[in-house]
Amino acid sequence: MFLHDKFGRAITDLRISITDRCNYKCVYCRTGNEGALYGDLDFDDYLRMARVLVGMGVTKIRLTGGEPLLRNGVVDFVRELAKLRPQGLKPHSDSGSNGTAEAVPFQNQDADPLDIALTTNGHLLADLAQLLKDAGLTRVTVSMDAVDPDRFARITRVPNGYDHVLAGIRAARRAGLWPLKVNCVLMRGFNEDQIIPFGMFAREEGVTVRFIEFMPLEEGRTWSPNTVVTLDEILARMAEYRPLVEIPHARSETARRYRFDDGVGEIGIIAPVSHPFCGHCSRIRITSDGKIRTCLFSIWDHDLHAQMRQGASDEELAEFICGVVARKEERHHIGEPDFVPASRTMVHIGG
Ligand code: SAM
Repeated sequence: MFLHDKFGRAITDLRISITDRCNYKCVYCRTGNEGALYGDLDFDDYLRMARVLVGMGVTKIRLTGGEPLLRNGVVDFVRELAKLRPQGLKPHSDSGSNGTAEAVPFQNQDADPLDIALTTNGHLLADLAQLLKDAGLTRVTVSMDAVDPDRFARITRVPNGYDHVLAGIRAARRAGLWPLKVNCVLMRGFNEDQIIPFGMFAREEGVTVRFIEFMPLEEGRTWSPNTVVTLDEILARMAEYRPLVEIPHARSETARRYRFDDGVGEIGIIAPVSHPFCGHCSRIRITSDGKIRTCLFSIWDHDLHAQMRQGASDEELAEFICGVVARKEERHHIGEPDFVPASRTMVHIGG
């Protein structure tokens, strides 16, 4: 039996933000003024949280931030995470009355390794890719919002970043961090003309390029429906370059997947605004300061680290987590009249 919310969704994916510091100031994310608001925890604390959650059915862990590669010790942390083995909850005859599973975490040392992924802006990846792979990282997603150095600098507000990121992508590929995904947030007025160049990039570099619809999670509060470049628009634009064929995707996968008609190059589109996928959400997040967030758009978070500070046992932490997951939001309300902005912006949540 696995950790379920009251809508019957199994929680199998955990994202841990290991810092809310970032060395980029992407226009759709940061104003650049706030810096690290919440700070971060010792890796031992994240490791304990991960161990309890893996014992409750989590099979995938993604490290994120802020920029996770800014944290010294990230390679050793990956090595420790890689020792965890996925396992569901111990079968129990009596499920909780709120529909959640009983909290009896345990590990099965014979199980397959965890899927450990990383989302990074890639700036520091070139030197770390092989070390991360050797430590047990399975795969990496690099954020890159233009395939043109000048445009890249305008979006990230960092000069000369482009070459570092490209070197990071190539080092990750050489290291065998596979599948290698490149995430591009499209924002009207900044980079919608990059759609076809990214199609070419996917084919030339052998990476999966995934376009993400801009969500209202930025510090600058500049989002409006007009700034979103939608899935339909991306598909229409790409079709001017080459026809795309849709590939079946797993229900819990965030991206719709496409390959070009000649089989060379894969494109993904993550469309939380125009085609929400909340009904299949399998994620919870832990922020850099140890709070659980059950939705990107949550207006509250749940202080797991405070439970640890107060001396909770692993079983008590698991009970706390079950209670939190029971309150996971059904869906987001982007673009609706009753939309309330999330209580944190993306850089302080961990995307
Ligand atoms: N620093 C790392 C990076 O750049 O990938 C990890 C953190 S970043 C917050 C994680 C992901 O969130 C990135 O792919 C980024 O492009 C995406 N993101 C940030 N703000 C966003 C927004 N307002 N809408 C959609 N995606 C956003």
